[in-house]
Amino acid sequence: MTATSTNSIPELSIVVPVYNEEESVPHLHEALVAALEPTGRSWEVLYVDDGSVDGSYAVLEQLAESDERVKVIQFRRNFGQTAAMAAGFEHARGQVVLPIDADLQNDPADIPRLLAKLEEGYDVVAGWRENRKDAALTVNLPSRIGNSVIGRVTGVRLHDYGCTLKAFRREIVEDIHLYGEMHRFLPAFAHQAGARIAELPVTHYPRRWGSSKYNLSKTFRVLLDLLTVHFLAAYGTKPLYFFGRFAFLAAGLATAAITWTAVQKLFFGVFVKDQPMFLIGIFFAIAGLQFLLFGVLAELNMRTYYESQRKPIYFVRNWLNLAAPSTAREDARARSVTPPPEG
Ligand code: UDP
Ligand code: MG
Repeated sequence: MTATSTNSIPELSIVVPVYNEEESVPHLHEALVAALEPTGRSWEVLYVDDGSVDGSYAVLEQLAESDERVKVIQFRRNFGQTAAMAAGFEHARGQVVLPIDADLQNDPADIPRLLAKLEEGYDVVAGWRENRKDAALTVNLPSRIGNSVIGRVTGVRLHDYGCTLKAFRREIVEDIHLYGEMHRFLPAFAHQAGARIAELPVTHYPRRWGSSKYNLSKTFRVLLDLLTVHFLAAYGTKPLYFFGRFAFLAAGLATAAITWTAVQKLFFGVFVKDQPMFLIGIFFAIAGLQFLLFGVLAELNMRTYYESQRKPIYFVRNWLNLAAPSTAREDARARSVTPPPEG
């Protein structure tokens, strides 16, 4: 078998996280094909089976067999939607990468509109479920609050962070690294990487098959993730500035308390053991030292993080008369997968 058709690089990569969605996947695939074919673009769909325990994988196997534009990654166990999406992103080869839910709550028919918007000169187009069809009190309300908090903290004001359906230019996806349940913050990370972001209302349907994988506890995880995101955005490359502030504050308080102690002793004859300020001063002195050391450790850690993985501390939009390193990376990748000459 020649590998040409499998390996020719498609224009679009659809990424679908799948966790126990055996009933909806065939419908989804049909809808995807119906939406993608008229665009006249070449495409691939990457289904990531996130440790499903129903018949999802068998369904995917069948799809992959009948169409080689269907790529499947099967996880050993359930690693979560973020991991599933990250796996899809990593193997996506298209110039545009579009994640979408497997449950058909998003409508593949919106894909051409997302692409058109992207072509207006954006790097990311985020779907906005303007008319969301989920439970009002347990899903929509917390999500509304969440979106507003996330928007405020990250500085990227979107109506709907949680909508999986989005369109990304490939470079942006390559520059983003996901952890925890951070797929919701993709636009925020994209913004940190310098992306131009647009929002587009998309259709949303109630779930017809299977059940939702999330409940209210998701809200708390989102809030904790937000803390990480904010810290990384504000102090990711300069943690000592963050901890240093507390160190200075504590040092100031320690100095004040100890000075007070000295004044009490020298001018009023009040001994150290008779008033609390001495101990409080010592407490702040130790706390300040701890903050300082913490900051220094964080600095060391940050350097290891960036340098061991050669992560850039900047992102480039264009190169003129220079080869973009990603092309160089791709060349290297292409060389490493070329089989050695026979004989
Ligand atoms: N999903 C996944 N792994 C998980 C949870 C969810 O791959 O651990 C997938 C799920 O199959 C669906 C998408 O992520 O395609 C969104 O999940 P769901 O529809 O349950 O979320 P909701 O729409 O209720 O927020
Ligand atoms: Mg859903």
